[in-house]
Amino acid sequence: MTDQQIQVTFYGGVGSVTGANFLLENVVHAQEESTKILVDCGMFQGDESAFEKNYEPFHYHPADIDILIITHAHADHIGRIPKLVRDGFRGVIYSTEATHDLAKVMLDDSLQIISYEAKKRNIDPLYTLDDVAETMSLWKHIPYHHTLELSGGFSVVLHEAGHILGSAIVKFRYGNKNIVFTGDLGNSPDPLLSDTEVIDDADYMIIESVYGDRNHEERDERITKLKNVVLETIAKQGILMIPSFALERTQNLLFVLNDLVESGELPNIPIFLDSPLAIDITNVFRKHQHLFNADAQQRLKKDSDIFSFPGFKETYSVNDSKAIMRAPNPKIIISSAGMSHAGRIIHHEKQYLDDPNNTLLFVGYQAVGTLGRIIQDGAKKVHILGKEVHVKARVETISGYSAHKDSEHLVEFVSHSAKRLQHVFVAMGETQSSLFLVQRIRDYLGVKATAPDVDASVMLDMS
Ligand SMILES: [Zn+2]
Repeated sequence: MTDQQIQVTFYGGVGSVTGANFLLENVVHAQEESTKILVDCGMFQGDESAFEKNYEPFHYHPADIDILIITHAHADHIGRIPKLVRDGFRGVIYSTEATHDLAKVMLDDSLQIISYEAKKRNIDPLYTLDDVAETMSLWKHIPYHHTLELSGGFSVVLHEAGHILGSAIVKFRYGNKNIVFTGDLGNSPDPLLSDTEVIDDADYMIIESVYGDRNHEERDERITKLKNVVLETIAKQGILMIPSFALERTQNLLFVLNDLVESGELPNIPIFLDSPLAIDITNVFRKHQHLFNADAQQRLKKDSDIFSFPGFKETYSVNDSKAIMRAPNPKIIISSAGMSHAGRIIHHEKQYLDDPNNTLLFVGYQAVGTLGRIIQDGAKKVHILGKEVHVKARVETISGYSAHKDSEHLVEFVSHSAKRLQHVFVAMGETQSSLFLVQRIRDYLGVKATAPDVDASVMLDMS
């Protein structure tokens, strides 16, 4: 016999953007086993202490978990799944198919970094190739809007989050109430993705708060600026380097360039996508283009591949990558990592930063301490792969890109359920950001809201 209560424990993704990990279990009477459902199992990211936290044992028994539901394929939501499996989890993993496909690419790619980091510290890697293979074998798909009955009296349905391809808001039903995990919520409208769906029937909500205390600047003239930078590169017969995050930002960029080239606003020049990870991810986007918004669907009717255009070349192998050097100027190189802390972009920066005819264009956030940030902050001399490089190239930034809703739009998202919401738990943000959003939800919507502590549990009445 089950009670009409569930317990939620916040094991990660509180007081921090990263490490999302929430446990949901029904309250049952003695002798019975509760059903245990995890939402997300993300990596802690950032400094050395985050690195160490990933190695700590989970604060529950992975073997006891029945089900793991994944909101989306960013590392801070999926990065510890292979460790969970390594530590005994043998339940079922559910997500959208696009999230599954992206997770496979992302987890395979992460193996290199995981083993590099372990070697550097002379410790065992967090997980291995076998753990990733085992993880993928436990994974099943659920389409958006399909209600899946789970054990223990739970059911679950996924809604479009509009954050990255395949991203989902997870809505559980238990008893007579709904509990909603937002995952990360997209900054709709997006050039490719469908808008975040309105959720108007949440009784409880666990919401992200990456930008809980800030509003985005107006969407500026990003496309015009990109076009101008490209045209200036052509005029100077130079090289344009764009460090770009492999997932989502790169595909957005390709979509825009595709448009500019095919409409004749930009001439055909060689444009290289020089990142195996970004190429693999772009192929996942091609496979799931039915998920794109109406605008992108219209383009697809006229152009079957909106990520490819005259002059565009994907350089997967190291040889192809090296051949970029021999291509005549002007040319554009899009490569990862997005903050120039790893990946092939560093080789291009080492090669080309000392020429005033070249340009380095930032299209994403550069964290303090990364090579990208050091150059963005105006360093004139940097060390790259053992070489001293004089930064003579022009350095430009296109800002305003964000994959997260800002404070105002997070409150708006909550407002649709305000009439029936009993409690909002604000998570997945820095403490200050979460607390600010808590206050806003209370003040503007009159809804009870708190920012839970790490490992805190709450009992929710679902009757
Ligand atoms: Zn995310």
